[in-house]
Amino acid sequence: MAQLLQKSFPAMGTVNTITVYRQAEEYALQTAVHRVLELDDRLSVFKAGSEISQINAAAGKRFVSIGADTLGLLKAAKEFSALSEGAFSVTTHPLTELWGIGTSHCAAPDEKSRKLARRLIDDRDLILDEAGGRAMLRRQRQAVDLGGIAKGFAADEARRILTEAGVTDAIINLGGTVVVMGRPGIVGIQHPGKSTGIPMGRLQLTNRAVVTSGSYERFAELNGKQCHHILNPATGSPSDSGLCSVTVIGSSAAELDALSTAVFVLGTEKGLQLAKKRGADVIFVSDEMNVFCSPALRGQLFLYPNFVNAR
Ligand code: ADP
Ligand code: MG
Repeated sequence: MAQLLQKSFPAMGTVNTITVYRQAEEYALQTAVHRVLELDDRLSVFKAGSEISQINAAAGKRFVSIGADTLGLLKAAKEFSALSEGAFSVTTHPLTELWGIGTSHCAAPDEKSRKLARRLIDDRDLILDEAGGRAMLRRQRQAVDLGGIAKGFAADEARRILTEAGVTDAIINLGGTVVVMGRPGIVGIQHPGKSTGIPMGRLQLTNRAVVTSGSYERFAELNGKQCHHILNPATGSPSDSGLCSVTVIGSSAAELDALSTAVFVLGTEKGLQLAKKRGADVIFVSDEMNVFCSPALRGQLFLYPNFVNAR
């Protein structure tokens, strides 16, 4: 049996594991882990000194100097917002804060405050000065949050670092955002009705990235309904599109991360259109636990008992 070298570490609000297959690759593995930790420090909306928190603190007031990769990621997020007609919005933070997302309570805000928060959401108000390496939010109280795309970007960065170091085979798993490099790996797909880490099925693949967005990360109950952490900027409430889980499979993990969040909000029809446009394969789970997967995945996706393949 091949000797694995594995490093698990907390970052980005989740548990991450990077696996390589050769002992000699320990240094590359360590470098990839450091890169993920560094990105967490720079991109987290929950860390006071992060570049994102600095942009938020200066909203409506002044430009903030940021690193080239943060700028590139904000640019990608803005582009994705336009592509998804705002279903993915990097400026959702005022609304996530209002709902208490990331905390242990779910506070259903009243109609008026929801409306006010919704008005602050507009990714076009994130101004990027690429030549000057600066960013600014147009209006006060606006705030950006890369929670819907940062893990994917970090996974792409870990892959880049490993590849540059000559590593050919690896599995990068950042809290369920997975990149498989080289030898085929088995990726578990999170069960939408169970706690984190329990799969509903698995997929064997190679040289692809797999990202899941779902309402499984329920953090509190409200009026008999579970609150979850993906909001529909159009309604100002947790997304209620009839899907409880969306998995997308393709090449760029950052793009797939934004895509899975957007598709989750858009629902089956529009979501499928967008995924097709971006060349991604999908696995959808409806609220009734029916599973739909792209034709290309049939035969590769193994579902555990109690799941029905819809088509
Ligand atoms: P996960 O973090 O579980 O992998 P997602 O990638 O779907 O799930 O991201 C959810 C996070 O993205 C939320 O915790 C929040 O920070 C942010 N978010 C919530 N709703 C949206 C949205 N409509 N567009 C962009 N980001 C969002
Ligand atoms: Mg996402």
